[in-house]
Parts: sequence; C-alpha cells; structure tokens
Amino acid sequence: MKHLLDYTISLAYHCLHIEHKGCRILEFHSILDDSSGKIPTLSPIAFQKFMEYIYNSKYKVIPLNQLVEYLKQMKPLPKNSIVITFDDGYKDNFLTAFPILKKYNFSATIFLVTEWIGKNSTYLSWAEVKQMHNYGILFGSHTNTHPHLLKLSPEKLEIELKKSKEIIEDKLGINCQAFSYPYGEINESTREAVRKAGYRCAVSKGEKTNTLGTSLLELSRTFIYETDITTRRFRVRLSGAHQWHKLW
Ligand SMILES: [Zn+2]
Repeated sequence: MKHLLDYTISLAYHCLHIEHKGCRILEFHSILDDSSGKIPTLSPIAFQKFMEYIYNSKYKVIPLNQLVEYLKQMKPLPKNSIVITFDDGYKDNFLTAFPILKKYNFSATIFLVTEWIGKNSTYLSWAEVKQMHNYGILFGSHTNTHPHLLKLSPEKLEIELKKSKEIIEDKLGINCQAFSYPYGEINESTREAVRKAGYRCAVSKGEKTNTLGTSLLELSRTFIYETDITTRRFRVRLSGAHQWHKLW
C-alpha cells in the first residue's frame, strides 16, 4: 500500500512538473547478480535500466566536484541535478558499470577502501582504477580498511583518513578531496577529523537532496539497492516521494 502511495505521489510530482531544487546523490555499491546478501548489490540489468531512465528523463547528471563548487560558491544548483557515486571499489564497477556510464556519458565518483584495491577478484585493481581515472571518473577515499569510525581512537581515525588519501594521491597523482563515511556513521569529531585531514567534501547517508546550506562534510545520499529493482521504484526514490511521510 505504501509503495502504491509513493508511486502516486511521484507521478503527481511528474505530472505537475515539480522541479527538484536540490541535488540528489545516488549511492551504489556492487553492480552484480548476487542474492547472497553479503554485499550490497544491484543487478546489472536494473543498473542499465536506471541509467537509461535518467538519460531519457528531466534529470541531469553532474560530477560531484561540480556540486561542491555550486555549494561552496552558494550558486543556485542546476534543476533536477543528480550525482552518481559508488562505495568500496568493487571490480564490477569497472567491468559492468563503467561501460554503461560511458554509453550515456555520465560522470561518477568511486570511493575506494585502499587496502581492498588489488586484494582479490572482488575488488578493482589499480590498473582498472587508473583506466577509469584517465577517462574522467572521479575517485575519493572510503578509508583504508573500512572500520566503524565512531569506535576508533583519535590516532587510528587520523591514520584511516590520511593513509587512504595519500595512497590515492600517490597512485593517481591527484589531490584526493572527497571522502565517504563507512556505514554512513558520523559525529562531530569524525567530521572535524575529516576536515583536518584535508578533505573538501564528504558523503554520508540521509536520503535527502542537497541544497545551499547543506554541510559539505555531511552531504546526503540516497542508497539504491536490490529492492529498487523496478524502474517504478527507482523513479519514486529519484523524486524523493518515498520521503513524503516526513513532510507531515
Ligand atoms: Zn562501504
């Protein structure tokens, strides 16, 4: 029943031409047919369908660094803008998602757990990371070992934030400016540690759109996972209609 109501509201948004003033950041993980539930996945068919939907819709994909510029300069955000992100650094991001992103000329940011890169066939190799980087895919840090940040001592937290940043900068010859909080866990001291480590922006959870005034160190993301398998559900989540009950 709730799904039907969500869908009806998203249709109303569409039919009434309601513009989305904020920017929604989509959060993907592995793009793989896998029902084991061990890692967050979305099937390649669903991912292809969703990207095709975005391409043919009013939404406009912008790179994360462009969103950061808009927010920093307090410039009005492009209408219906969205940002595509992936966490963890799964190999299928290269094998499956990358060709689809290229097909539609979509930008994306991949947040790497640096100790996992090149570790085994589940994760990206540095050669694959470099190939995507050369094409224009952006990379950020998702820590060095993917710990629960709130449980770390200040010293260990600093190591996780700095080591991963340095490794990415060394491997890609870039200034690594973006960070993704593992499990979306964040508090005052982690946010401050992220700022001190030299990151310009950081993404969390929250399911909200990002607007002028949103903290650059706590950007909200909308998690897209297997239960969003139908384009109808995806459309609901893009529109934010699944959040309607929070309006009252
Ligand atoms: Zn993660």
